[in-house]
Amino acid sequence: MARYTMPTGGAFAEIPATPFYYYDLDLLRRTLESVTTEAGRYGYCVHYALKANVEPRILCEIQRAGLGADCVSGYEVACAVENGFPSEKIVFAGVGKSDREIERAIEAGIFAFNCESLEELEVIDALAAKLGRRVDIALRINPNVRPDTHEYISTGQAESKFGISYTEIDQALAKLHMLSHIRIVGLHFHIGSQIRNLASFAELAGRVNEIAAWFAAKGVEIEHLNMGGGLGIDYEDPDGEPIPDFAGYFRMFHENLRVEPGQTVHFELGRSIVAQCGELITRVLYTKTTAGGAKFAIVDAGMTELIRPALYGAHHRIENLTASDAAGLRPMEVYSIAGPICESSDVFARDIAFPETRRGDLLAIRSTGAYGSIMASNYNMRPLAPSYFGDR
Ligand SMILES: *Cc1c(COP(=O)(O)O)cnc(C)c1O
Repeated sequence: MARYTMPTGGAFAEIPATPFYYYDLDLLRRTLESVTTEAGRYGYCVHYALKANVEPRILCEIQRAGLGADCVSGYEVACAVENGFPSEKIVFAGVGKSDREIERAIEAGIFAFNCESLEELEVIDALAAKLGRRVDIALRINPNVRPDTHEYISTGQAESKFGISYTEIDQALAKLHMLSHIRIVGLHFHIGSQIRNLASFAELAGRVNEIAAWFAAKGVEIEHLNMGGGLGIDYEDPDGEPIPDFAGYFRMFHENLRVEPGQTVHFELGRSIVAQCGELITRVLYTKTTAGGAKFAIVDAGMTELIRPALYGAHHRIENLTASDAAGLRPMEVYSIAGPICESSDVFARDIAFPETRRGDLLAIRSTGAYGSIMASNYNMRPLAPSYFGDR
């Protein structure tokens, strides 16, 4: 009987109905081993950014590996707690936390709120007072670092909506002195996502050194520095770099970030932990040619399963599994690969070199473990695609 082997390594005796997500838990475990080993060299704490993927089996592996959780909504805080992350390892960021979300997180006893505006400090203080609690907070400071990435996923330049402006930190400190139910314990930064150029992180570390020195000069003791996430992955060649360069990433901070005695350093990684272990499997429904002669393959997955290409022009490697299995090699042609959704932006790749493709061919869209299934929608009344897990 034919066995269908997924590019990340797992195999099916029979292919389930498409489209579906396939996750290679073995690769996830090796990735977790790498991130914990490399962070462990310097005593760094890593929190997993839940917003990348919340499949319970994936959360279970991550929590077992000892990572904390980074949440950007009260629902994610609840999800982290339900999936076994200890509350003292949960951080909660977000530019628009509702009162209800804040109250729930206070009750859960999380490690720290990463606060993103002066007004939010007052709200958390008032809610903590109401609940009779004293709450630890970190100031999320916008350091005005412009990383080398897409503007929609860069968050740390001066005009971004995220964080407290570095020009407002004196006001933030004055306010903190007046608020008795919150205590500043940390400084938090997150400059964006899919950052491949590690020099951006060295620049961040340099800015953090300046800002931390400013707080020290004001007599404020900072217990932890949180550098956020953002380490990028290789979307072009997932097999060439299945595990991101955690060694280089943490070394960059070790060499550039000044850490005072007793201070802990935290990271919030999402994409780099889960992206490469996931792939979206889809079948070709139709092939067609436009008036201009361009070839399209229309597949049964669309922006409802994976919105990244439509949302920010993201590139994913796509492979034709049927053509690579076929005995006689098929000739290379040029195709655009598009989904069935009634939106012109529902295109996964435009004019790529691709083997001659036929109705019924099985395709793998690679590196979709992060910001894939989690961003799915029911647009066009489509049901959510199921997930399968390979466990070698
Ligand atoms: C999205 C996000 C992260 C994770 O980013 P990755 O690029 O997936 O590592 C970390 N911290 C905060 C505050 C975020 O919003």
